[in-house]
Amino acid sequence: MSEAEDRTVLEQATRLLQAHALCDRCLGRLFGWLGTDTTNVERGRAIKLVLTMDADLKLRAGDREQGMSMLSLLAGPGMFQPARIRAERESIDYVHGTTCYLCYLDDCVFDRIPGTVEKALDISRDVEFGNFLVGSIPIPILAERQDELAGAQEILHAETLKSDFNREFGKILQRELKKPVEFAKPDIVIVYDMEKDSLALQINPLFVSGRYRKLARGIPQSLWSCGECNGKGCDACNNTGRKYSDSISEYVGIPAKEAFQGTRFKFHAAGREDIDVLMLGSGRPFVVEISEPQVRNIDFHSLTERVKADSEGKIEVSGLAPSDRASAQHLKEQASRNIKEYHALISTESEVDEQILAKAMEQLRDIELSQRTPNRVKHRRSDLVRIKHIYEVQLDKRDTHVIEGTFKVQGGTYVKELISGDNGRTTPSLAELLGTPCTCSELTVTAIHS
Ligand SMILES: [Zn+2]
Ligand SMILES: [Zn+2]
Repeated sequence: MSEAEDRTVLEQATRLLQAHALCDRCLGRLFGWLGTDTTNVERGRAIKLVLTMDADLKLRAGDREQGMSMLSLLAGPGMFQPARIRAERESIDYVHGTTCYLCYLDDCVFDRIPGTVEKALDISRDVEFGNFLVGSIPIPILAERQDELAGAQEILHAETLKSDFNREFGKILQRELKKPVEFAKPDIVIVYDMEKDSLALQINPLFVSGRYRKLARGIPQSLWSCGECNGKGCDACNNTGRKYSDSISEYVGIPAKEAFQGTRFKFHAAGREDIDVLMLGSGRPFVVEISEPQVRNIDFHSLTERVKADSEGKIEVSGLAPSDRASAQHLKEQASRNIKEYHALISTESEVDEQILAKAMEQLRDIELSQRTPNRVKHRRSDLVRIKHIYEVQLDKRDTHVIEGTFKVQGGTYVKELISGDNGRTTPSLAELLGTPCTCSELTVTAIHS
């Protein structure tokens, strides 16, 4: 233990007051982590009161010099009323008009709390939120003063100005708002800048999960910019800047953004189907993220109806429910682990014998597929070999050169390439097993099990 650590709270407090004027709260805050179920103001007052009593004891015991110097310290830099009364009675001189070194520049930052609470009520009035958090940016010079003072006096259990302010501000605001403070995932954060004396309202995003079904081919999952102009607009794209006029993310995201009165949306999905592929069954899981929503509770039934109406029945959503960021982040990894079922129409170059078809089904049951990134997506995915599990394949001949197939596969399997073989990049493949080139002419996702 160093010499400083050996000092009592009263000895430390005396040294602090000898260095600078400190109000009750700021003196108490320098011992803020000591003791519980109290306040910094109470800590500061208690210390000053005991020191005043000590001074009194000294005066009564005849140690007038020591007693007077303590009273003058408490009445001056301590700004302590009981010490001032006693000092005046004893005609002891002390410095008048001192202001606290740690909370006062032109005014005391803590005195601004009532006014700041009023402003906070004002800026949050038109926003719907269930809980909140306050934050603050301290005046740098005040924060530095405390750090320096605590360092010089080896004060080890001080609370910061910021934390002290936030708690006091939050406590009063909570009472006025009648809403709980939430530390982990607050709906809104109200931040007070002490230097600028300004308040900022940060509205945190909200998340809605659900599943979508895509009932028409030719719709990409996300907005696809025109390849000619990169979205700037050109003759090729009729100055729209886009390759396709619509997208699933917009059919879901735009009505959601409008319902929540947000500023932007982001669409997260558990994988994606190709533009020409239908998504049926119970649909594909997604989470839509809405930035700066003014409204947090909406009627999910009307949003469901609105998506269907806006897309003219091409996109349907179901199971809409409040969600969170973790679920949105979880979707990607979920997509590569879940089991998907597909229905495909397959064209074969030569007619396939029923026996060979039956054998191929056997050969594709419960196997590990080795799939190198397909040629057609090489430009946007890294070129590597992925191992995917094929659970079950059902093949039925529909015509001389047409096979109907159902595939139960691990998420992330490229089914079109499982059929064609992609020039040997996917093995085994249907084309390889049937001994004739095969192409997938129509594909539908019929189920995603998650
Ligand atoms: Zn102070
Ligand atoms: Zn263009």
